[in-house]
Amino acid sequence: MWSKRESVDYALQRRRTLATLLGPVRSLATAQACDADPLLVRAALHHGELSPTRCPVGDCGRLVHLNYVFGDQLGQYSGRIKSSHELDDMENDFGEFKVYVVEVCPECGWNHLIKSYVLGDGKKRRPPRRQPTVEDIYG
Ligand SMILES: [Zn+2]
Repeated sequence: MWSKRESVDYALQRRRTLATLLGPVRSLATAQACDADPLLVRAALHHGELSPTRCPVGDCGRLVHLNYVFGDQLGQYSGRIKSSHELDDMENDFGEFKVYVVEVCPECGWNHLIKSYVLGDGKKRRPPRRQPTVEDIYG
């Protein structure tokens, strides 16, 4: 991703959360840390990209990553999940948008923001014309 900038790594916060969950002073209950919303779990199962990292909480399996995109120039597509492949195309089609990468364990519900960054070619564009949605058509 050639236009990647403003990268923020949340590894420290992740370690801190895990320490309060699994460390000697356990102030965080598993239910609080593994609180993935059913919609997030469903998104992880359908759109998640398999990560090389195994679940840090239980004996689950490998985590999946979801890329959420946000930005004024994305119009109604802001807030959607995009694959890494789609991000490669999008960085040439939009001036600026932010990507938040969330890791999810579909088995136990562990979820954490792991990084964020900005993509885009820097050219200011108007958001794409709004496309009618199912809600528009059927109310
Ligand atoms: Zn897990």
